[in-house]
Amino acid sequence: MENKVLVTRSSMPPYEEYTEMIKKLWDSHWLTNMGEYHNQLEKELIDFLKVPKVSLMSNGHMALEMAIQAMNLPAGSEVITTAFTFVSTTHAIVRNGLKPVFCDITMDDYTIDVSKIEDLITENTSAIIPVHVYGNLCNVDEIQRIADKYRLKVIYDAAHAFGVEKDGIGVGNFGDASIFSFHATKVFNTIEGGAVTFNNADIGEKLYNLKNFGIRSEEIVVDVGANAKMNEFQAAMGICNLRHFEEEIEKRKKVIECYEENLCRNDGIRLMERKENVKSNFAYFPILVEKEGKRDYIYSALKAENIYSRKYFYPLTSDQACFKNKYKNVKLDNARYVSNRILVLPLYADLKVDEIEKICRIVNQTIGEGI
Ligand SMILES: *Cc1c(COP(=O)(O)O)cnc(C)c1O
Repeated sequence: MENKVLVTRSSMPPYEEYTEMIKKLWDSHWLTNMGEYHNQLEKELIDFLKVPKVSLMSNGHMALEMAIQAMNLPAGSEVITTAFTFVSTTHAIVRNGLKPVFCDITMDDYTIDVSKIEDLITENTSAIIPVHVYGNLCNVDEIQRIADKYRLKVIYDAAHAFGVEKDGIGVGNFGDASIFSFHATKVFNTIEGGAVTFNNADIGEKLYNLKNFGIRSEEIVVDVGANAKMNEFQAAMGICNLRHFEEEIEKRKKVIECYEENLCRNDGIRLMERKENVKSNFAYFPILVEKEGKRDYIYSALKAENIYSRKYFYPLTSDQACFKNKYKNVKLDNARYVSNRILVLPLYADLKVDEIEKICRIVNQTIGEGI
């Protein structure tokens, strides 16, 4: 294995399949602004994700910023969220002029601990923004119960959860809106890209305005919007990748099964459990290394062999320089425990069995060595 093994590798359709699609753009000269491919992808995603409505965006982060903005939450109000996530989640809240209130996570699946949400609610709380981290479904029923009781909006960061279903219900149906990321590193990509799924037509109108300068017709601007449109090259990539998605997921599943087979007897690490009623997208393979300090040791041992794992998510977003000591100081015992011990191993459809076995050998060996 002379080559580097990175934590992920972007899924790409056969070259000719994509070039065939974009050839049409040279004929039409229509490159962006809700073009044909944009509209086609939006329709295909409504079917695929089993959701009522989809609004495509330039990327997942803008999808999140705009989904939050579309809820018209009171300026400066508090939003309950988690710090064990990609920093985008917290950025989107703060960039909307809202205050993040960090809730702890569960040790089961690293999603928001619903038993700790109600204690954080004050008269200034306006929304809950949970994360389906690694594609693990949050406790959506309990979150909705709490949201209904206190009249809060719920926006899911479903950036990791493309294609996930609970009892046959698409993940994008929960809460007031959900956002997805179609970044090159995610299970489904449009190079860069994202989407908001939602049910309410007013939210759809608001999102349309926000992503296109608030322009409704040639001479009429109705809202103070930004620019977050998905272009035709992105949409064409999405249409191609969607055709191969199920195949990719099957391959990823095999990679994960191979990992599990080689690591399950190692009692120094904890693996994620899958739930019976949840259709997984096999997006990530995190291991939790129980012994303090050992995670970094494994990370370095892999790196020495040109294998690049990632400490997703370390540090917690609440500990990052731009947020530290700025918001309510809540105890995040589980989040901190997990963040200090989690390691995401390389995972992509074409990861070879001998590569997986080598990674597992290194993990199993180093766990008994050193500190
Ligand atoms: C990737 C990601 C985002 C941002 O999506 P982009 O498409 O990269 O802008 C937001 N939240 C989480 C949890 C992510 O992993």
